[in-house]
Amino acid sequence: MVDIMIRAIAARGGIRAVGITGRALVAEARDRHNLSAVGSAALGQAMIATLLLSSSMKSPQSRVSLQILGNGPIGTVFADGGLDGTVRGFVEHPQVELAPTDRGLDVAGAIGKEGILYIIRDEGKDMPYTSTVELISGEVSQEVVHYLFTSEQTPSVMLLGVFINEKGIDVAGGILLQLMPQEAENEALITLLEERIKKLDSFSSLLRAGKTLQSILFDLLEGLEPQLLPYSQPLRFACRCSFDRVLGALRILGVAELKDMIEKDNGAEVTCQFCNTVYRADRIDLGKIIMNMQAEGATS
Ligand SMILES: [Zn+2]
Repeated sequence: MVDIMIRAIAARGGIRAVGITGRALVAEARDRHNLSAVGSAALGQAMIATLLLSSSMKSPQSRVSLQILGNGPIGTVFADGGLDGTVRGFVEHPQVELAPTDRGLDVAGAIGKEGILYIIRDEGKDMPYTSTVELISGEVSQEVVHYLFTSEQTPSVMLLGVFINEKGIDVAGGILLQLMPQEAENEALITLLEERIKKLDSFSSLLRAGKTLQSILFDLLEGLEPQLLPYSQPLRFACRCSFDRVLGALRILGVAELKDMIEKDNGAEVTCQFCNTVYRADRIDLGKIIMNMQAEGATS
């Protein structure tokens, strides 16, 4: 089944709601990075949260980067998602595994309760907008809601779920409900949404029971006149790396180092951190880079 994002409004435009199913994109991240179960859940939740954050942006090329630098054993968690429905990411220590807690995979334990969350919103035009907040719990949804409230003054609730069984990623998804500016001071409304989220059975369980995203969203928004927006967007794991970009990046090493690589290794092997694709540049590729650099050096 294709991963999708759906959107709705409620309370006469006072609430925006977004829902995501992300089983395939989390499964691809798991395969590419050979992630442990808790690593799959941590990166999966981060990627889904990033897509949820990007949904409020305007220009088509908008992207959000989310980076969690916690003190837990998994190290840095990074995700980068766009309004075009593509997302990619990695965790620093993909093999770290932790015993599950009674609430499921121990994502908070893997990330750690102390550290920093960075969010970069980039509309693709002027300067990207960077925010930094301190971690409060290590739970991805709580960290992002805390960020939305403190940095963007947007009261929000978020649900994230990744469930893994013996066959792989069983279900994955997320929901974001946000108060629009005209309701941002409406504490009763955000309290109502928070209580409904708390009462909800775990998000993964609902998806596993076969509930659709729309019905989960509409249950949360019951009595608030929810209206589904007509367009649902396909989502997928996709990286922006390419062989040309890798060759461009190799220039940073400088002529002497590149010559050394030709002599010692007969080329260079570069792995994309975001998608784990391995690129191999042979001695001819490296030789061309050196020639170009020397030609540029001669003319400058
Ligand atoms: Zn890549």
